[in-house]
Amino acid sequence: MKEKLVLIGNGMAGVRTLEELLKLNPDKYDITVFGAEPYGNYNRILLSPVLAGEKTVQDIMIN
Ligand SMILES: Cc1cc2nc3c(=O)[nH]c(=O)nc-3n(C[C@H](O)[C@H](O)[C@H](O)COP(=O)(O)OP(=O)(O)OC[C@H]3O[C@@H](n4cnc5c(N)ncnc54)[C@H](O)[C@@H]3O)c2cc1C
Repeated sequence: MKEKLVLIGNGMAGVRTLEELLKLNPDKYDITVFGAEPYGNYNRILLSPVLAGEKTVQDIMIN
């Protein structure tokens, strides 16, 4: 039986941590992510180029 793991916040640091945990042991956790924003996990550092019209939202999606 998998351990339950809950991440509050769909940001870069938290989801990067999940990626590392999954690499170490893909079957260990049953993971749920709660996010306040109605989007997938995106690279917030690249938000400025999106706002400037140089990149699209799709360009900065990570997961
Ligand atoms: C426009 C912009 C440009 C930036 N440019 C740079 C740059 O050039 N270089 C640089 O180093 N950094 C930059 N930053 C800063 C960088 O984006 C942050 O340091 C980084 O995103 C922090 O990552 P994090 O995962 O810790 O937090 P966040 O990315 O803030 O993620 C936290 C997530 O948790 C969610 N959340 C919070 N509370 C709750 C709750 N109670 N329930 C559910 N969800 C919740 C938030 O909605 C958010 O999605 C920039 C930021 C912005 C906004």
